[in-house]
Amino acid sequence: MRASLERLLASTTPARRVLLAVGASVPFFLMLVIVHRTAAADPALVGALDADLVRATQWPLLLACAVNVLVGAWVWPSRDATTPCVWPTRVVCLTVGITYTLVTVLYGPYTAPSSIVLIGVLMVGVLLFEPGPLRVVALACTLGLAAYDLGVLAGWWRYAPALRPALFDDPTAMASWLGWRTFVLVCGGVVLMALGGLLFARLDAVHQQLDALSHTDPLTGLANRRRLMEALEAEVARRNRTGQAFCLVLVDADHFKQVNDTWGHLQGDAVLCALGRVLMAGVRSPTDLAARIGGEEFALLLPDTDLDEAEAVCARLRATVARQRFGDPLAPFALTVSMGGAVCAAGDARQALREADQQLYLAKALGRDRVCLRRLREAST
Ligand code: GH3
Ligand code: MG
Ligand code: MG
Repeated sequence: MRASLERLLASTTPARRVLLAVGASVPFFLMLVIVHRTAAADPALVGALDADLVRATQWPLLLACAVNVLVGAWVWPSRDATTPCVWPTRVVCLTVGITYTLVTVLYGPYTAPSSIVLIGVLMVGVLLFEPGPLRVVALACTLGLAAYDLGVLAGWWRYAPALRPALFDDPTAMASWLGWRTFVLVCGGVVLMALGGLLFARLDAVHQQLDALSHTDPLTGLANRRRLMEALEAEVARRNRTGQAFCLVLVDADHFKQVNDTWGHLQGDAVLCALGRVLMAGVRSPTDLAARIGGEEFALLLPDTDLDEAEAVCARLRATVARQRFGDPLAPFALTVSMGGAVCAAGDARQALREADQQLYLAKALGRDRVCLRRLREAST
C-alpha cells in the first residue's frame, strides 16, 4: 500500500496532484457540511451552540467545494501534462487552508480538536505540493489567526463564537459536545497518523533514491568507486571473521585513448557501457560486485574466491572481451583489457588495492591483454 502510494506520488504530474487535493478535500468538506447540519439539529445542543452560525458555516464549506470542483474541471484536460500548475495549485491550497482555518476558529483554534485536523490538512499540502504555494497559504492562515486573536483581545468578538456559555453549564449539552469533539478528534488523529506514515515513507523513498544515486556510476549503471570501497571494507571484515579469502581485480581497457581518437568520445562512452555489461554478466550475481572506478578503469570484487577460481573468472572475462566486437556494426573493432588482481587471504582494503594496482601495472608492462594475479598472505603483507 505504502509502496504503491509512493509510486503514485512519484510518477504523478502537477495537474494530477491538484486533482488529488480536490479529490481529498471535497468529500472532507461535504462530511463537515453534514456534521455541522447534524450538530446544529442535535436537541442536546440546543442553546449550547450558536445554531445559526453553525448552519451558516455550511456556505463557505459548499463554496470551497464548488471552487475546488471548478479547478478540478479546469485542470482535468491537462492532467497528463508535466508543466507546472501554478494557479490551480494556489487556488486549491488557499481555499482549503482558509476554509478550514475558518472552521477551526469557530470552535476555538487552541482548544478545539479540529486544529489537529488542520495540521493534517497542512501535511497533505506538504506531501503534494512545492513549498511555494504553501507559504502563501501558511501566511494567509497565520494572519487570519493573528487578526482573530487581536479581535478577541480587543473584545470585538468572542473566542470560539460557535459555542455558547450554556454549553459549559449544562452537563447533557457538554456530554453531547464531548461526543462530537471525540468524533472529530478520532477522525483527525487517523488522518494525521496516515499522512504522517505516508510522509515518512516518502522521505524514506527519497533517501533510498539518493543513496542509490550516490553509489551508482551514471554512465554504465555499475557500482561506483564509493560503493566499491564500502563493499571492500565489508569484505575485509567478513574475511577476518570467516578466514575465507576474497579477490579484488582491477580491469583497465587497453589503449583506450585510441578508441576515442579514432571513433570519437560518444562511441568511446558506448564502448565503456558495453564493457560494463560484459563485466556485469561475467561475475556471480548478486555476491560479486562489478564497479566502474575511473575513466576506463573497472574493478571486480569476488568474495569467497581463491587464486584458482579468480584465475578462471579473469581468464574467461579477458577472452570474452577480446572476442567481442565493439562500435558500429558496419565498422566493428576489437578491444582488449588488462587485469591485475590480489587474492586477499590477509591484509586490509588499502593493501588489497595497492597489490591489485601493482599487478595491473605488471600486466600492462608485460604487453597488455593479460591477467596478473597474486595471493596476499600474512607474511607478504
Ligand atoms: P593503457 O593501455 O595504458 O591503459 O592506455 P589508455 O589509452 O587506455 O590509457 P590512458 O590513461 O592513456 O588513457 C585513458 C583514456 O580514457 C583517456 C580518456 O580520453 C579516456 N576516458 C577516460 N574516461 C572516459 C569516459 O568517460 N569516456 C570516454 N569516452 N573516454 C574516457
Ligand atoms: Mg587504459
Ligand atoms: Mg587507465
